[in-house]
This record gives sequence, C-alpha cells and structure tokens, in this order.
Amino acid sequence: MRLKSATEIEAIGRAGEIVAGVLSMVGERAEPGVSTEQLDEAAEAFIRDHEGAAPAFKGLYGFPATLCTSLNDEVVHGIPSRDRSLQEGDLLGVDVGVVLDEMYADAAVTVPVGQPSEEVQRLLDVTRAALEVGVQQASAGSTLGDVGAAIQAVVEDAGYSVIRELVGHGVGFAPHEEPHVPNFGQRGQGATLEEGLVIAIEPMVNVGRRYIRTLPDGWTVVTADGSLSVHFEHTVAVTREGPRVLTQRPGA
Ligand code: MG
Repeated sequence: MRLKSATEIEAIGRAGEIVAGVLSMVGERAEPGVSTEQLDEAAEAFIRDHEGAAPAFKGLYGFPATLCTSLNDEVVHGIPSRDRSLQEGDLLGVDVGVVLDEMYADAAVTVPVGQPSEEVQRLLDVTRAALEVGVQQASAGSTLGDVGAAIQAVVEDAGYSVIRELVGHGVGFAPHEEPHVPNFGQRGQGATLEEGLVIAIEPMVNVGRRYIRTLPDGWTVVTADGSLSVHFEHTVAVTREGPRVLTQRPGA
C-alpha cells in the first residue's frame, strides 16, 4: 500500500472535485430520451475543460469511454452508447475517474430516471447508507474487515445482497492500487488502515441474489438473476482527523 502525504491527498482532492462535478452534471442531465453516449460526451468535455485533467477510465484496460453507464440489472462497467436512450423508470449507475496532474480520484452514483418507485428509492437509500457506514470506518487503526463488515451488515439487514467478486481499491497515484477493499468481511480481519491511505469504497448491492455475470461485450457486469443493482462510490482518505471524503458533491 502506497501511502499519500497531506500534499498528495490535497492533489487527489482536486481531482475528486472534478469527479464530483461530473457526477452532479450527469445526474442533472439523466432524463428520458438522453442517450448514454450523450452523457459520456458531456462528461468528457466537462473534464477536459479543467487544465491538466483527463478521463481516467478512457483507454484503461481498453475501456472505450469516459463514463461507465450501467442501467437497471447492469451492475458496473456498462459502455455508453448512442443506441441506449434513457427511459422513465430506468436506474442509471454512473462511475467516473479523473486524473489531474497525475493524481487519480474515482466515484460513482446511481440516479433514478424520472420518479423512482418506493422499492427503488429504498434500494438507493440503503446502498448510500452502506457507503456512509463504510466511510465512517475508514480511520487509522481500523481494518479492511471493519469497513466490509459495516457495509455488509447494512445491506443484508435490509434484505439485499452484496457482490463479492467486485471490490473497492486503493487509488491516487494510479486508478487502481492495493489494497482490495471488499464490501463484506469480518470485524478485525484484514489489513489495518494507516494515515495516508486513500481508498475507493464502492458497495454494489443487488435486490436479489449476489451473483453476477459479464455480458459478451466483455465489460458489462449484470446480476445473474436479472434483479436491480445499485452502486455508490467515494474516494476516501484516512487522515489524522478521521475519514475524509475527496469526491463529495456540494449539496449531496
Ligand atoms: Mg472504483
């Protein structure tokens, strides 16, 4: 695990502000009739408007776009497309990474298109709450198991399931660093968090069972049972003062 200095955490935070700006902008534009490709183009333009900033996912492992856009039973890594127009009632997951002056930040939100059903609203609320408790555990001296166990408890107490094959990760000098940050686990287990660690915490929560599969495009991960899935993510620094979210959207 490569720890970051206070100065480096500030730099990741500047990338994180752009990430938060992208997610706010995309959330506002996520209306019926808009294609996921239009959202992707707007996101890339927004990022490149900031001097020294670029999309972090475009070209990463060959991914073709700025955003991952994942609808309904799609969990993560959906590819924006001009043929994919949002419809009333869709559930849109948006994940974006930004590199600014060689420092990386990463976050995701899921937004309803139009008015969400009660069931969808509850799923969104539970997943956001799971991320929040995970963030609260991100203090020096806690373990990765403490983070995962806190998230898992919120999700499973609500009757939903947590995906195991996909996990959060270290971030900052690169888009993906050690350690893996599972959204499940046992208190007291796993590596101990240290001041200067920066991690992306990103619960992925299914209404149905936890199992997933990847579509033939090689990217899009969907729930195996076709149930809805929701994803929220923040980049979080472990600081002397406790957890510090580096991708907070103003007013969110
Ligand atoms: Mg991530």
